[in-house]
Amino acid sequence: MKHLLAFAALVTLGVCTAASGQDDGPLPKGTALRPPQDAGATPDVPVPLMQAITKRLSADDFEGRAPSTAVEPKILDYIVAQFKAAGLQPGNKGQWLQPVPTVEITGSHHTPLVVSGAGAPLSFAFGADYVAGTYRVTPRSQVKDSELVFVGYGINAPELGWNDYAGVDMKGKTAVILVNDPDYAMAGEDGLFKGRRMTYYGRWTYKFEEAARQGAAAALIVHDTFPAAYGWNVVNSSWTGAQYSVQKPNDGMDQTIANGWIQKPVAQAILKASGKDLAGLTAAAQRKGFRAVPLGLKVSFGFDNAIRRATSNNVVGVLPGTTRPDEVVLYSAHWDHLGHCAPVKDSAKPADDICNGAVDNADGVAALTALAKMNAEAGPAARSQVFVALTLEESGLLGSEYYGANPVYPLDHTVGGVNMDALLPVGPARSYTMTGGDKSELADLYRKALADRALTDVPEDHPERGGYYRSDHFSLAKRGVPMFSVERGNDLANGGVAAGEKAAQEYTDHRYHAPADEYSPDWDWSGIAQDVELYYALGRELADGTMWPNWRKTDEFRAIRDKACAAATGGCHPR
Ligand SMILES: [Zn+2]
Repeated sequence: MKHLLAFAALVTLGVCTAASGQDDGPLPKGTALRPPQDAGATPDVPVPLMQAITKRLSADDFEGRAPSTAVEPKILDYIVAQFKAAGLQPGNKGQWLQPVPTVEITGSHHTPLVVSGAGAPLSFAFGADYVAGTYRVTPRSQVKDSELVFVGYGINAPELGWNDYAGVDMKGKTAVILVNDPDYAMAGEDGLFKGRRMTYYGRWTYKFEEAARQGAAAALIVHDTFPAAYGWNVVNSSWTGAQYSVQKPNDGMDQTIANGWIQKPVAQAILKASGKDLAGLTAAAQRKGFRAVPLGLKVSFGFDNAIRRATSNNVVGVLPGTTRPDEVVLYSAHWDHLGHCAPVKDSAKPADDICNGAVDNADGVAALTALAKMNAEAGPAARSQVFVALTLEESGLLGSEYYGANPVYPLDHTVGGVNMDALLPVGPARSYTMTGGDKSELADLYRKALADRALTDVPEDHPERGGYYRSDHFSLAKRGVPMFSVERGNDLANGGVAAGEKAAQEYTDHRYHAPADEYSPDWDWSGIAQDVELYYALGRELADGTMWPNWRKTDEFRAIRDKACAAATGGCHPR
């Protein structure tokens, strides 16, 4: 996992909706999971196999599993061998690997950001006042005399009747965009944009994508610590140094020339020079019907880019379905981690500079393989089950992004799936949590599965942080495959909430993205076994069933899925 958050198990179940035919309509409220006697006994969760895989993947000679390094072929060979032994077949048209071409862009020689048009030009320093980068693979990025337009939250949400770009032509212009979404400060989750819960429209990635769709030359997000949920230091460190993305045939030329962030006082100064005021415009931008405001100012800034291309690989295996093999249920976990990293003085091994990533995410790959083995043992399901060990999660969800952009199995034929990232080796829990909340009809299936197991559903701790948008399942969700994520709660069967919170805190403080994230024979596997049993039940229910659960009507991904399904031949259909 990258970028804060979600340190416990993250499961994701994606699902398309709609009936694929006559009688298999929407998942009715209260649909029962098939009783165990009909579904066949659940195969045992192979804990020794998971122990062996976790130990091997996190061993020092795999050097922390940094992608595109000399050790990658050895890691891939090992995962392929485990997939084979579990009973999988090669999943990418007879091949085990899906190559993921990446590009690394490192900016340098950033000019000051200069704003002109009202008296003496204003000049802002790179790093302290602004940061910027580009998605275009080009040696030089230059924004020159581009007209500034304040576009509020920069949101175009047709399903909500909201368009901050209505009536404005952004060609060649630079968008100044507020962070988060219009109702982030609400206490509850009832607003048009789900109140304090973050939506995709609140994510910075969305704002840059939408500005590009509008044809903008550049996009600048106004940083504000409270709605962003992190300080300028995080923005600054994330946007300086190498930036990774997947290679695209057009080298990103459909993107803006540059994307960046400005500090809030910088935005205030710019708006003041324009005779406007940030607080007033922010209030206006929170009301429906807001119209973008041209500022009568021009901005210029530029920087050089060093470009390096590389390739890493997803590993894809399949258990073909029997009666509907072209319909797919997806299981995924990222195999990559950080490689060599900064040694930590107080770690158990002071000189150790290998971030082994045993929890993050060797044990997720172990659970992925265990699910493959269990499903192979249970016999083929009606639908195909595809197991993907993803690369480049730590570099920004790139392995899943590439899979989403270049799906081996069409997304409109993909029912959903289970993503696993960092399963905590502590005991079983009495509660689970659905990250992202009740976004799709799959929530009904999840609640029923919990009820069958006498487990409780506990709401997400910090819905405003948008944890749902920061893990691999999101690369599929944003393309309309309805996804939700579920993590084991802190209320442990032994020791309750106090023990659960202590264990999670210990991991966060001492092991997360540190050399101490190492395998130990003393790990308690009973909680991971509980996760895997639950994931098996949820995945198998989809794989044996005919349902195509969709996003809830007001969800931001509903329209994308409905459109894809309407155009699909076979697979999902809107209803
Ligand atoms: Zn991870």
